[in-house]
Amino acid sequence: MTSAEIKKLDGERVMHTYGRFDVAIEKGEGATLYTPEGDKYIDFAAGIGVNCLGYGNEKWLKAVTEQAGKLQHISNLFYSEPCVRLAQKLTDKTGLKNVFFANGGGEANEGMIKCARKYSFDKYGQGRSTVITLFQSFHGRTITTLAATGQDVFHNYFFPFTEGFKYAKANDIEDMKSLMTTDVCAVMMELVQGEGGVLPLDKEYVKEVEALCKAHDILLLIDEVQTGVGRTGSLFCFQKYGITPDIVSFAKGIAGGLPMAGIMAGEKTCNVLTPGTHATTFGGNPVAAAGGCVVLDTMTDEFLSEVDKKGEYIKDTVLSWNDPRVKTVRGMGLMLGIVLEGAAPGEILKKCVAKGLLALTAGEDALRLLPPLVITYGEIVEGLNILKAALEEE
Ligand SMILES: *Cc1c(COP(=O)(O)O)cnc(C)c1O
Repeated sequence: MTSAEIKKLDGERVMHTYGRFDVAIEKGEGATLYTPEGDKYIDFAAGIGVNCLGYGNEKWLKAVTEQAGKLQHISNLFYSEPCVRLAQKLTDKTGLKNVFFANGGGEANEGMIKCARKYSFDKYGQGRSTVITLFQSFHGRTITTLAATGQDVFHNYFFPFTEGFKYAKANDIEDMKSLMTTDVCAVMMELVQGEGGVLPLDKEYVKEVEALCKAHDILLLIDEVQTGVGRTGSLFCFQKYGITPDIVSFAKGIAGGLPMAGIMAGEKTCNVLTPGTHATTFGGNPVAAAGGCVVLDTMTDEFLSEVDKKGEYIKDTVLSWNDPRVKTVRGMGLMLGIVLEGAAPGEILKKCVAKGLLALTAGEDALRLLPPLVITYGEIVEGLNILKAALEEE
């Protein structure tokens, strides 16, 4: 199909829930994408932080296609190797105890909240089910994870929302303390708020929250759906913060582009979800898990330090332009927010796309970059040149 045919049919037959860019993508190689007509785009988005190994990665392709040829799915009523191998890699590399596999970030976060509430119910009974989340957070699109999301714009239309969430000001330890009442079972947060604007939390604040949680047997839940799987320059971002969460959720990058997600539980929480209390048909899918194993094998210390170096290179280059519209660059690893002043991120992004660069926005003021982690310096330079031209046109 041509791009025009694809767009027309989408308009007629697909629900209009997305504000799409005027681009159809057919294929990619490395961190470069092509339309059906052969138009080229440098990819600073990787889906939305999903395609961590880029496009056409040979090891990933081999693992996924071989597994698809052997067994594409088996229910969770049976055992299968790819899923246990991936669980082993995840727990070996994080020190967490075990894994529950899900299919998307919102669903993984639902599982994380269920696990936290059951931990508290088992130990303390009813009335201790409140989860504290942060303002500017994003945790998903289900009715419960919308409630968990600390942004008013998401609390609309779909009433009634799930009860039992309250919101703390990020990096304000006194506010957090004041919310930690006897009804609270958990604190849930992203270490770098993604959708909220690429807002990293202060290390000291996170450490203090961890200590408060430990002191009150409140569980610390870290949403690593966007920050995890190498994105922030360590396998999981909590490792850079030097904390020990009770549960960690992951999704986006885990299987290199196939739908997969999950939660990892620590000592306190690894035996909370028992048979019959939580399940999902597709969770731990063997094809996705085979892809996930390649993703984790690829993420050596050397690979991860390269992610940090590329991130620094992008940051330094953007700042070196001394462009008055660039206020600062926030973020970690290859999760970067270029904070703009006197220029709307959405408008700059439109110009980038028109010139052959895909990227994202975040919050009110940031252009967000989440390129494939394997992006080359050549592709980075090409993409940054487009971004520079788009800014200068403004
Ligand atoms: C994307 C995202 C989610 C939601 O993930 P889905 O796979 O879209 O359900 C949840 N939390 C964070 C931090 C995210 O970035």
